Amino acid sequence: MRIYKCNWCNNIFWDKPRKYCKDECRKLARESKRKAKSSLTRGGHTLYEYRKFKKEVLKERGCICQKCGVEAKLIHHVKPVSEYPELELVKDNVIVICINCHILCHPELLVKFMKSSLYIMGK
Ligand SMILES: [Zn+2]
Ligand SMILES: [Zn+2]
Ligand SMILES: [Zn+2]
Repeated sequence: MRIYKCNWCNNIFWDKPRKYCKDECRKLARESKRKAKSSLTRGGHTLYEYRKFKKEVLKERGCICQKCGVEAKLIHHVKPVSEYPELELVKDNVIVICINCHILCHPELLVKFMKSSLYIMGK
């Protein structure tokens, strides 16, 4: 007889091999994975790392939009993080930008922006 252990609740069982002892455990495990993932940035960094990086960039360059010169508190990735996740925290790949210029850089986000301003506000 082989003994199996539930990956979620650590219950042991032996009737048939599977990862989780019951459906509920499978659901809970999936849910927690999803949550852990959503608390990371698109480049796979923690929000803490990302905020620290952003703060540094703003401090070094000043809170001025590099496109139009007004006060700015956002950073924009020249090469998009979706395609170059490894460049997310690389200073050469970001510019300081104001919200208006940022929207122009991401016309595809305009729709999302209407629904939630959170994303484009730079988290
Ligand atoms: Zn279980
Ligand atoms: Zn601007
Ligand atoms: Zn951007």
